[in-house]
Amino acid sequence: AKRIIAVTSGKGGVGKSTVSVNLSVALAQKGFKVGLLDADVYGPNVPRMTQTADEKLQWNDNYKIIPSENFGIKIMSVGLTTPSSDTPLVWRSSVAVSALIQFLEDVDWGELDFLVIDMPPGTGDIQLTMAQELPITAGVIVTTPQPVALDDVSRAIMMFKDIKVPIGGLVENMSFFIAPDTKKRYDIFGKGGGEATAKKYDIPFLGKIPLDMQIREFSDEGIPPVAMGDKRQKGYYKNIADNLLKQIL
Ligand code: ADP
Repeated sequence: AKRIIAVTSGKGGVGKSTVSVNLSVALAQKGFKVGLLDADVYGPNVPRMTQTADEKLQWNDNYKIIPSENFGIKIMSVGLTTPSSDTPLVWRSSVAVSALIQFLEDVDWGELDFLVIDMPPGTGDIQLTMAQELPITAGVIVTTPQPVALDDVSRAIMMFKDIKVPIGGLVENMSFFIAPDTKKRYDIFGKGGGEATAKKYDIPFLGKIPLDMQIREFSDEGIPPVAMGDKRQKGYYKNIADNLLKQIL
């Protein structure tokens, strides 16, 4: 791939996988060729979020795995088992990292403009080694506005800075809520939040995504909200994609 975007989070459960999927779809909607590699060895959820099943996996003539294609993006996950085996693999320690690098080589991505990698959450040894070993163009950090999540963002920023991987920016998910009846907007943690943290560490702030039950419902069904054509969701993600492209193109 011409550019590799590593989507990570300091804290688990902030929506890192949801952002990885929908950012990938948003980039594809701009006309780019996009691959999504689910490298979250702790909780590989991309297959469920994109209706990607094991059965679709095949090998090409050079024995490279052909990724699934859905919603305009090529998809591969460490959570997928081969068609000949139905037991999920458990990835442990640094073996996971070398296996992942092998994995990158074994998949026939074709010509990609972007490969988005859904990284494991947090800043432990696995994450650090992955960030060091993979040829990452830019790291994208996902957070919620909660102080506990923002504390962990600082750790993720430090991790990337220590190993000199450029940071593409910070995405704040579940930032605000729009009341369905009155359309009034409620900010969940008032002012500050991710934007202030981005400023403090001098990294780009890419944008906000609201807390929206529809996002959860569609993700659970395996349909990325951005692919579904929801105008507002598309708008949030288009904005984030545009801001990221400004950093990396
Ligand atoms: P992570 O990858 O950080 O662990 P996920 O992307 O798996 O987080 O999201 C965790 C849960 O939160 C999922 O059920 C997902 O559908 C839901 N979710 C993510 N973003 C939003 C949002 N903006 N509004 C509502 N629910 C969300």
